[in-house]
Amino acid sequence: MKIAFIGLGNMGGGMAANLVKAGHEVHAFDLSGEALAKAKEHGCATFTAVPDAVADVDAVVTMLPNGAIVKSVYTADVIGKAPQGALFLDCSTIDLATAREVAALAEAAGYQMVDAPVSGGIAAANGGTLTFMVGGTEQAFEKARAVLDPMAKAVIHAGAIGSGQVAKMCNNMLLAIHMIGTCEALALAEKAGLDPQKFYEISSKSTGYCWSLNDYTPAPGVGAASPADNGYAGGFASALMLKDLRLAMEGASTAGASVPMGEHAKAIYEAFVEAGNGGKDFGAIFTTL
Ligand code: NAD
Repeated sequence: MKIAFIGLGNMGGGMAANLVKAGHEVHAFDLSGEALAKAKEHGCATFTAVPDAVADVDAVVTMLPNGAIVKSVYTADVIGKAPQGALFLDCSTIDLATAREVAALAEAAGYQMVDAPVSGGIAAANGGTLTFMVGGTEQAFEKARAVLDPMAKAVIHAGAIGSGQVAKMCNNMLLAIHMIGTCEALALAEKAGLDPQKFYEISSKSTGYCWSLNDYTPAPGVGAASPADNGYAGGFASALMLKDLRLAMEGASTAGASVPMGEHAKAIYEAFVEAGNGGKDFGAIFTTL
């Protein structure tokens, strides 16, 4: 297939490279010359304007920072410029309202679109082991799967358009809450006189088990290996977790859902990021307790 790929940053760069490895012809566009140069090294054909990149493709993949940028790229340069029959896949994490709005605009112009946000960080993007949660019609999902497979460990149809973003915001809100809870339990165990490693051994086999504790233990030198063992460098940046929590709170407000723990988690990450810790892995909340 010929696939246009727009947004070749930390995530998109590796994803586009995996499409090339799978034998696809990838037409790359990014505002950053550095990102484009890297894409070229990975075998992508590079373009200096979006309409040229999408002119004769079977699919357009976007991996961009936020909803406003996604909307402007599709409305200005993709809708009406890509051939009819091209499938649009937005893999960015964006707000639900914009995801639905852009898909409706694409559909009104005769295109099929899916929202396909991902779980997994830069290592999974490079390794082709992302989990894609896909919102769209059954027919669009079947077409999308062929594009997403080379970048994926799992491709799951979540439901109608927007459902991928709903799954993503709910998953990451839950992740933030159990990460903070895990940090609190580890810190409390230690302060109350229990060796945190002992606590890990017990709770990871008891009802406290969860991904944050069992697979990504946020206390240095305790339990599973994680960025905590490396000064909280790498991993999933707290600033990105805050972005996802803000999207979840917006989504909750639109849906009329009550999310008191989600609100509290957002306030905790907001304070942490505003104190200059945005680049640290999100398990670094442990250091504040
Ligand atoms: P990034 O900032 O590294 O990359 C974004 C890229 O988009 C940049 O190269 C930038 O130059 C480009 N860009 C910005 N505006 C553009 C425009 N108008 N036209 C073309 N290119 C433009 O961000 P990232 O970490 O790759 O994240 C991308 C998306 O993936 C975000 O929505 C993020 O929330 C989501 N995500 C990131 C991670 C992660 O661990 N980094 C994990 C899951 C999901």
